[in-house]
This record gives sequence, C-alpha cells and structure tokens, in this order.
Amino acid sequence: MNTIDRSSLIKFSQQLDIVQPSPVEILTLDWAAKAGVILLIKRDDLLHPIVSGNKWRKLCFTLANMPTQKSHIVSLGGGHSNHLHALGYICHRLGIRFTALVRGHYPALTTTLQDITEWGAQIRFLTKREYRERDTAAFISHIEQQYSNAYFIPEGGSQVHALTGVAALLDEITLPYDEIICPVASGGTLAGLIQGAQDSPVTGVAVLKGEGYLEALVTKLLPDSVEAKNWKILHQFHHGGYAKAPKALVDFCHDVTEQTRIPFEPVYSGKLLWAVRELVTSGAYALGTRLLLLHTGGVRGFV
Ligand SMILES: *Cc1c(COP(=O)(O)O)cnc(C)c1O
Repeated sequence: MNTIDRSSLIKFSQQLDIVQPSPVEILTLDWAAKAGVILLIKRDDLLHPIVSGNKWRKLCFTLANMPTQKSHIVSLGGGHSNHLHALGYICHRLGIRFTALVRGHYPALTTTLQDITEWGAQIRFLTKREYRERDTAAFISHIEQQYSNAYFIPEGGSQVHALTGVAALLDEITLPYDEIICPVASGGTLAGLIQGAQDSPVTGVAVLKGEGYLEALVTKLLPDSVEAKNWKILHQFHHGGYAKAPKALVDFCHDVTEQTRIPFEPVYSGKLLWAVRELVTSGAYALGTRLLLLHTGGVRGFV
C-alpha cells in the first residue's frame, strides 16, 4: 500500500471547503417502516456544493499523492462527466493547470465543459477511436510525452488511490449497519466500499446496462485478497440505460425528495433508492435489517 500524505490531504480539503465527515442520517419512509427495515444514509452529497461526493472520495488521495514537482493534471471523460467537472473545479481552486481530454466533439460546449473552461481548463477533443485506446500503455506514454511533467489521472479517477479514498468513508461511520448499497457506473466506488467493508455484504445498483462488464471492471480494480469478499451488482434497475429517466423515476425522485428533504436525482441516487424500495417491499431483507445507503452526490442542477 502506498503511504498517504495526510497533511496535504487535510490542507486540500480545507482549501476547497470540503465539509468532512459527512453525516449519517435515518431515512424515514413509510414502505421501509412497514417492512421493519432501517435505512441509514451516508450524506456524501453534503461534502461540497460543486464537487460531487464520490468524485472527491475518489480524487482526494490521488491529489494528496501528487508528486510536488508536478503542476499540471491531465485526465479524460465524456462531455457531461462529473469527474471532469469536479477535477476542473479542484484544479481551479488549488491553482493547478488542468487539461481535459474529452471524448467526441462538441462545437457547442456542454454546461460541464463551459464550467471547466471558465475555471481555466484546456480542452482537447479526442475521436471515439482515439478514446477507445485510453487505457493502453501506448496511449498513456503518448500523453505523457505530449504533456511532459503532467500527472495523468485515468477515466473516472478510478485507480488504486481512489479505492483507498472511498474505503476511508466507512471509517467515519459510528452507527452499526448490516449491509451497504451504492450506485455503480465505472465501479470505483463499489470497489472502494468492498475494500473497506469489514464483514458487511456490499451491493451495487447498476445505473447503466453493463451485466458482466461491470463485474469485470470491479474485479480488475480489486486486489486479489479482497475480491472474494461478499459483493454483487444488481442489473434490473437501470431504467433503460445511463441517464435514462422515465417519468415514473423522475416522479419518484421528486416525491422522495419532498418526503425526506434529501435531494434524489434520476441518474444515480434515484435509481439507488428505487432499487432499495423494490428490494425492501419484496421482502428481500429480514425484519430489523439496517441497510446503509451511500448518497454519492451528483444533485447539482436537479433540485
Ligand atoms: C460518477 C458517479 C457515480 C458512479 O461512481 P463509479 O465509481 O463510477 O461507479 C455515482 N454517483 C455519482 C453522483 C457520480 O457522479
């Protein structure tokens, strides 16, 4: 395991006004009460108004370990990427030069790309073909040559340090729980929770169509010693694919947001809570089960 520079981690969170630790709250919903299931929610949506919760968890240890002689970060993602958005803001606030390699071409910038441009990011578009090569050694060495002295962070920030950052959030929780559940897109968050969990099973809710592919991503991220832990991904709650939001889901998000006063949006947290409701009401959990939901953030612009 790499040694982590904790003092620079603390310095960065202070400079960025990250409110850590995030609270754990009890979700009061009639269907959960009826089934006798206790829903706890870790409010990582409250870590920061702009930096999405799990993006901070995935990036914080990576940033803390950035070699001091590096003053430029290069990373990649899609035109709507929460990862690029979070990183763009962080680099702006910390005074680090940032280059975003973006998949495809956007003659009219998305709001995400507009924001990061305003924060001083340099944007370079990659063709879909170039982008497909993003994890190959040839691509990475090409980028490292082109941007000498830059620190390269892979897509979604998902790498070893990301797992450490996510795992650490479990140390902030003092209430007991029986199982952890979170949304899954690139698998980094789920992998980190699996790594950090003691004995509790960890369940991921896929927010996109990715049966088999997502399990492979998570397995690849996990060290061998951890892979055998008790985890699974559920694939029946993606509602048609990534960012697909049928009206029933959008209505559900508005209802639960109103009832709980906690913001739920349809891309991640809404699909998570929908899955939890289906599981709870179908009797998947024994009476008295304490289920811990991770609210990963991402509510900017929805509520
Ligand atoms: C990116 C993101 C996720 C998905 O996390 P992965 O580690 O990619 O699986 C979940 N929730 C929010 C709010 C996100 O921005």
